[in-house]
Amino acid sequence: MARAALALSLLALLAGPAQVRSQAAAPLIVGAVTAVPGRSASGYIEVPAGVDSGTRIPVTVVHGARSGPVLALIAGTHGAEVQAVLALQRVRRELDPARLSGAVVLVHVANPPSFYGRTVYYSPVDGKNLNRVYPGRADGTVSERIAWAITREVIEKADYLVDLHAGDGNESLRPYAYWTPLGRDARVDSLQREMILAFGHDLIVVDTTRPRDFASSVYTTNTALLLGKPAITTENGYLGEPAEAMIRRNVDGVFGLMRWLRMWPGEARLPRSATYLRRFEVLRSPLTGTWLPAVERGQAVAAGALIGHLTDVFGDGRTEVRAPFAGQVLYVVATPPMSRGEPLAMLGAER
Ligand SMILES: [Zn+2]
Repeated sequence: MARAALALSLLALLAGPAQVRSQAAAPLIVGAVTAVPGRSASGYIEVPAGVDSGTRIPVTVVHGARSGPVLALIAGTHGAEVQAVLALQRVRRELDPARLSGAVVLVHVANPPSFYGRTVYYSPVDGKNLNRVYPGRADGTVSERIAWAITREVIEKADYLVDLHAGDGNESLRPYAYWTPLGRDARVDSLQREMILAFGHDLIVVDTTRPRDFASSVYTTNTALLLGKPAITTENGYLGEPAEAMIRRNVDGVFGLMRWLRMWPGEARLPRSATYLRRFEVLRSPLTGTWLPAVERGQAVAAGALIGHLTDVFGDGRTEVRAPFAGQVLYVVATPPMSRGEPLAMLGAER
């Protein structure tokens, strides 16, 4: 027993950035799913009915035969962002617990009402954006209860977290990631940046404006960061399409990150250089009507360049939307329905 404990602590020293959980031999329990070391299990986190209808969140827990950190991977926070959902199905097939150090919690679809209801941004049940209601409420509406359940069952049990997003069902997006240093814990801020690189991203939006108050953490990853757990938001995919290259980017990103965390055999390969976008802006619609974009995802634009134009629902009038600064199009809404205040496009620039 003592020798086994010594071997485990030596492994811990070799594990680089990874934290090693002391209760490595104990089963990992997430919702109704229990996985003992060396095994995988799938099932659900139940979100009971409350002020509105309930749901259940599909999860897989892969518990490695060897000790190591707990990595949480969350797909489907926005229901039309399907590329990560499909990617985690492949990760589930490929993740052999015999080869894994630590554990991986796969949240296959964080937001089932939005996924099955085919909605963009908002839940069809309560009209809320799941990635704006963290850390959630046990007695709230369904999006708030989902956030509460994920905070308790997934975020609190993880050491590292990735929230895997894409352009939503209406958004044509080129891959990028968010680095959101809070300036409270240099270790967490630094690990967060390195996780983004290990996931394979070389275009990084730097957002230092995220809330510092846990009670209004707002975002999935910000909830983890405020608990001292390095966490990143990735963006790979667009328009609700199961594009193979985007599914592959998500799968490769997960395994690259697991190698860097020393959870999976093989060398981590980080991009040689990265571009940091410290200036960014989501352009929003001044009116309700129809939108026709004039740019593509990833396109470089000059200051004042035409991004697209709006008309009223009859096709009359022409309101042009122009780039407020020179940069590149991270995403552009590529479908016509447009409501006042909703995003049209996101631009980023290094300065
Ligand atoms: Zn999203």
